[in-house]
Amino acid sequence: MAGLAAGTIAAENGLETLMLRTGQSATAYSSGAIDIIGYPPEGLALKEYLPDTEVPFKTPSDGLRAILTLFPFHPYGIIGFGADDDKVVESVIAHVKESISWLKERLAGSCAALIGGFERNIYPITVLGTTKPTCLIQETMWSETLNANPDNVLIFAGFRGHAEFNALSTTRAYLENQLRTGKPPHKVGHCVLEISPFGKPYNISSIELARHFDHDGSMVDLAAAIKKHVDQLGATHVAIPPVLGIEQALQNKAELQKELGVEVFELVALPPSVPGFRLQRAMDRTFKNAGGTLLIGHQARSAIFKNDMIESVVAQSPRREVTISPKTVILASGKFIGGGLEADENGIRETVLDLMPVTTNLHPAEEVRPVYHTNVFSLSPDGHAVLGAGLAVDMDFRPIDADGVERAKNLFCAGSILAKYNYSLEKSGLGVALSTGLAAGRNAARMAKEVS
Ligand SMILES: Cc1cc2nc3c(=O)[nH]c(=O)nc-3n(C[C@H](O)[C@H](O)[C@H](O)COP(=O)(O)OP(=O)(O)OC[C@H]3O[C@@H](n4cnc5c(N)ncnc54)[C@H](O)[C@@H]3O)c2cc1C
Repeated sequence: MAGLAAGTIAAENGLETLMLRTGQSATAYSSGAIDIIGYPPEGLALKEYLPDTEVPFKTPSDGLRAILTLFPFHPYGIIGFGADDDKVVESVIAHVKESISWLKERLAGSCAALIGGFERNIYPITVLGTTKPTCLIQETMWSETLNANPDNVLIFAGFRGHAEFNALSTTRAYLENQLRTGKPPHKVGHCVLEISPFGKPYNISSIELARHFDHDGSMVDLAAAIKKHVDQLGATHVAIPPVLGIEQALQNKAELQKELGVEVFELVALPPSVPGFRLQRAMDRTFKNAGGTLLIGHQARSAIFKNDMIESVVAQSPRREVTISPKTVILASGKFIGGGLEADENGIRETVLDLMPVTTNLHPAEEVRPVYHTNVFSLSPDGHAVLGAGLAVDMDFRPIDADGVERAKNLFCAGSILAKYNYSLEKSGLGVALSTGLAAGRNAARMAKEVS
């Protein structure tokens, strides 16, 4: 997300833009829903500091205001560093709001078209039957009326042989939550459908189902399979795991709704996630349509520095080594999943340029053993501090060393490689990647134009 946002904005500014990507990304693993900010960083009990702010944050701007007050070095805070003191908060809010509109516009009509907005956080249902605060979801996940009427009847529909989703346990978890909160709907059922995409009724993956549903005519069988359960339970809404297609999901949702006469929507996925894949695919196209060049399977290995500038970057693919001499470079290599950071018993390293990573407290992390920055419980409300490690940057998103000096004047970075942002805890992942990607992309584009 960060690299594609940065690259697209640079290309839209008329610059020749090249993206190198090894392949694997957290963006493609993500649920494809764009979180801006759901919870305070570091599991902070906000009541003590900001008693009037509700958690999870009701709106992205509530969350941003809290972060800017209490965590000024959070990547969202850095976006506002250049503004006058009394305008920092409003400038960050304006930037993030504009980033959301920018993304929605670019992805409109794509396989990852988005719905939602800056006015409020929304709570889509996950495949586990829980809900999570987020800002934008793919249109396929949207239900207009689910919570509107206490008489609504919701069915969770799963597929036999699809181990990534269990309709019964999702139903139980969801129902428990609804009864606890008192929110509608309270009438919830489940069904298991028999669809064998490639002739086998077992070990079916989400991506196989999605590929199958991209074929013309595949909705006829699916609609027929769901219909009998809808009629039997008097369902008004049907929730399906996010497998309605890669390219055709939105059209398939519309077709199912027409055939069944009820609202159909996808749940929010766990990895591996078809909507995350859709998001990456749609962003790749946006970047290429803006004029960018994408080299997949190319790993940036090193750079030659000269006079405080990066002179060239060396990348390796299975077949060749390429040397590129750009005017500016944006490092958006992600954290541990993307491959931008690596950690072992000796410490944490930045993998491409050997820059200095820092901990979430902004202390050098090169000799920090991750074991001291992880929680004993894998799923803990306090999260894992190691996920807040990354690069420290100046106000233009240039990575800095222990003395606060930038490593190169033409090197910028964005996204989850940045320190002090722990997306799994905060629910801020793609929002920070998008907003900092656009900020770093604009800074890099401006500099490239200046040095031309
Ligand atoms: C399972 C999971 C679920 C998530 N769910 C959500 C969610 O629901 N909502 C949300 O907002 N966020 C979510 N997130 C967080 C979100 O996905 C990340 O914060 C975001 O994708 C980070 O984007 P990024 O561009 O910084 O990094 P990445 O998406 O990881 O991209 C980094 C890219 O850099 C490339 N790269 C790395 N090293 C090199 C190299 N040397 N040369 C060339 N290329 C290189 C990688 O191949 C990769 O393509 C989730 C994350 C995970 C892991």
